[in-house]
Amino acid sequence: MFKFLSSEPLHDPIASPAVDATAEVKCTTCYMCACRCGIRVHLRDGDNGPEVRYIDGNPDHPINKGVICAKGASGIMKQVSPARLTRPLLRKPGSDRGAGEFEPISWDRALDLLTERLARIRATDPKQFALFTGRDQMQALTGLFARQFGTPNYAAHGGFCSVNMAAGMIYTVGGSFWEFGGPDLERARLFVMIGTAEDHHSNPMKIAISKFKRDGGRFISINPVRTGYSAIADEWIPIKPGTDGALFMALLHELIRTDQIDHAFLKRFTNAPQLVVLDDCDREGLFAFDPDPARGPPGDGRNPHNKLVWDKTSGTAMNAYPEGIAEGCDPALEGHYTLADGTRVAPSFQLLRVRVASCTPEWASAITGIDATRIRQLAQEMGHAAFQQAFELPIPWTDAWGKQHPGTQARPVAFHAMRGLAAHSNGFQTIRALAVLMSVLGTIDAPGGFRHKAPYPRHIVPNYRAFNAPDMIRPNTPLNAAPLGFPAHPDELAINADGSPIRIDHAFSWEHPLSAHGMMHNVITNAVKGDPYRIDTLLLFMANMAWNSSMNTMVVREMLNRKDAAGEYMIPFLVVCDAFQSETVAFADLVLPDTTYLERHDVMGMLDRPISDFDGPVDSVRVPVVKPLGECRPFQEVLVELAGRLNFPAFTTAEGTRKFTGYPDFVVNFQPQPGIGFLMGWRGKDGTEHLRGEPNPRQWEMYAQNNCVFQHHMPEDMHYMRNWNRAYLDFAKDKGWRQKNDPIQLALYSDTLQSFRLAAQGKSAGRQPPDDLRERIATYFDPLPFWYAPLEETATDLKAYPLNAITQRPMAMYHSWDSQNAWLRQIHSHNYLHVNPVTARAAGVDDGGWCWVESQWGKVRCMLRYSEAVEPGTVWTWNAIGKADGAWQLAPGSDEARKGFLLNHLISEELPLAPAKGGAATGKTISNSDPITGQAGWYDVRVRLRPAAPDEEPVSFPQQASMPATPGVLGTASRVLTYFAGRRKP
Ligand code: SF4
Repeated sequence: MFKFLSSEPLHDPIASPAVDATAEVKCTTCYMCACRCGIRVHLRDGDNGPEVRYIDGNPDHPINKGVICAKGASGIMKQVSPARLTRPLLRKPGSDRGAGEFEPISWDRALDLLTERLARIRATDPKQFALFTGRDQMQALTGLFARQFGTPNYAAHGGFCSVNMAAGMIYTVGGSFWEFGGPDLERARLFVMIGTAEDHHSNPMKIAISKFKRDGGRFISINPVRTGYSAIADEWIPIKPGTDGALFMALLHELIRTDQIDHAFLKRFTNAPQLVVLDDCDREGLFAFDPDPARGPPGDGRNPHNKLVWDKTSGTAMNAYPEGIAEGCDPALEGHYTLADGTRVAPSFQLLRVRVASCTPEWASAITGIDATRIRQLAQEMGHAAFQQAFELPIPWTDAWGKQHPGTQARPVAFHAMRGLAAHSNGFQTIRALAVLMSVLGTIDAPGGFRHKAPYPRHIVPNYRAFNAPDMIRPNTPLNAAPLGFPAHPDELAINADGSPIRIDHAFSWEHPLSAHGMMHNVITNAVKGDPYRIDTLLLFMANMAWNSSMNTMVVREMLNRKDAAGEYMIPFLVVCDAFQSETVAFADLVLPDTTYLERHDVMGMLDRPISDFDGPVDSVRVPVVKPLGECRPFQEVLVELAGRLNFPAFTTAEGTRKFTGYPDFVVNFQPQPGIGFLMGWRGKDGTEHLRGEPNPRQWEMYAQNNCVFQHHMPEDMHYMRNWNRAYLDFAKDKGWRQKNDPIQLALYSDTLQSFRLAAQGKSAGRQPPDDLRERIATYFDPLPFWYAPLEETATDLKAYPLNAITQRPMAMYHSWDSQNAWLRQIHSHNYLHVNPVTARAAGVDDGGWCWVESQWGKVRCMLRYSEAVEPGTVWTWNAIGKADGAWQLAPGSDEARKGFLLNHLISEELPLAPAKGGAATGKTISNSDPITGQAGWYDVRVRLRPAAPDEEPVSFPQQASMPATPGVLGTASRVLTYFAGRRKP
């Protein structure tokens, strides 16, 4: 018996741990969050083979260098979670979705059922199958599966997470934060973090900030809430949610007004000097170009060829490259000019200058809540760091046009931003403004500034066109392009001839043209409405759409159960693959039990999301360290099996047999280009080639022998300025990371956005948006960044709902996965609404008291805590801690269900479509998302507070009927307790 009530310590925390003679240590990669740290899993003998004893950080891993966080160390509790699913399940005939009544079935039956259904859909109308996945790390496989199936209805979680961050930056500088790039804190003097809690890039960011601060760097955090990283910032600048774009515009105003901009950088490496057509014509707002085909092709919105600049020295227009950058030329950044054919033009920077002229600190102060004087000082600090604290590294490099640079210019002001900027309906233009701000300071891929990680930078716009041809959705035929991509022009939208969406989520349609990651948050609503059509089968992987992954959660749950006049579910077949008994599992028709990250092979490679660092590409893998629990199977294996059964061409030999024996075999042998595969390390028949080479049958083994990671160190002259670095561009093309080796000019001005606007204005030939979307496209597809109020605000009575409400991920939990984790639940078992005392007192709610939070869409009851670490106009809570009763195998009546709550109940997945200027409301609705990218507007909701009545039951609202345990669920806590103080099972 454990002596819980004894004063005798269970173990001595400073004594050396007892040595277990049976212990074995295996290296793999953590997946308790998406940072992908290296871990060592310590094993001991158990009843069914090795079992996990404990987990620590791998000191030899380049990402975390031995550091491990609370989540990573608690992976052991995920492994033995009572919520583990262990058997395939079929909903009992006659039972309702949501009731959670299942019968266990064999894998053979589950796969037969699925194969029969999918084969029928594929042979008739492939788009009736939709595959949407949550925070997985296997999109190269899931995307390939959808493409081979022939359905465009595929996406991962990015559309409801941070696509604004990815797209806003990639469409401007060719790369983005986190996996794609980040702040060079090694050399920065000033670090400005905006809209970032403690989540993405967790351990590496903590390590870097720690060193940065020890080295005397100054760290400013701009955020409505002071938590996580912000708590250790030298200065916290509170800001109202959704107003960051106004701050950036004012900073641009100040930097340009005081001439603290990198003129040389702007002229050579950006489109700032390129001439924009000002005349009212079909090329208005596009770049002027040399029409002589002998002097290069006209720009197609993807490549920076043969645009024009105005040379101040000669007083003439010149081709931007190479004449415009030749010695003696001085491209103008300002002024208005007339070309020889009479066309009126101006450098794009002139237009930016005009744009920011009215964005004074006083203007931004009224929007952001930040004092105008502080905004001016902030601009001064940024300019000072970039220019007065600048230095040059003795690293010579040659640019794409052959100019040799004797050193590499450092601009030691670094930024980092994340979902706080992204999850607003104005996020794309806000992030464009940040990227332009970084560009005028010259910090892009410069020492001390923002640095890319291979395979970034990409082209602006990346050379990945999404599927856009409805006539290519054919029975038993793969799509001719991937379902996701980066549109550069209206011609690349996924629309039918009448302009209606091809996809079930309306991604890449006129509603949200640049929705590069899809729009998972609209799938269920649209499918139930039959807008644009009904589907047959929805397969959800790791996506808790019946709870914390959906806006308007209660209605979405009802929609999953909604039937048509014939008594058939509106979504006839719902397949859920998960490792745990989430809320969504209860709604499934078929449940496929997935493995944990310790039980399977995984790849984080260059075809998807590698773990590269600033100085070179890095990829990594997971290898199974314990065998799967019960009948659990890795989802990857299920997909490869289905692909074989359905005879997908990429998975079938010319003789009609299966190409791959399973997922590990697929990873080793699948090659999208000769010599290029999922993994870049230990290629070639004998494993002696790297980056490119023939498949190596022993590749997994070699990764396992090398900490599950491969790191390539590029020569120093490829470390910086990679948008224009000749050596790097050639190298990246040779290694298959880029299709071309031409330079990537920063798009301060976006002619891509302008091409959509011209269509909306009816000025360009070709595709044009439907009339009720013209004004929307013309407004938001502005080629220059601008700030506008989040769309929800324009549909809200702000006097009635005066407060912003936002969520964050807690430091100790990631998504909903960790709320069933026995160790982490001891840190958070329920959440509070955190409110500034001034705001809470004005609403009449006590510290620790129960209150109602109401939006125009719904209400929740929760407990409130006073907090000085939040600006008075904002309330916030931790995300995804509140649970439906009984879900995740939490005991009925657990804190998560009775005290915890979800803010999602207050957020609508749709908004009224704004009427055209002067027009009447049409009654139509549109996704509550960024109008450019389709990013879910999670942080736009407005709320009000009132105290709960004294006689109300002190439980959160809404409450759910308790979910029963599903058959086969692990459902026992005894093994959890055996890990207490390292004791063996009694
Ligand atoms: S930061 Fe994320 S990946 Fe790294 S140890 Fe923690 S949970 Fe694991």
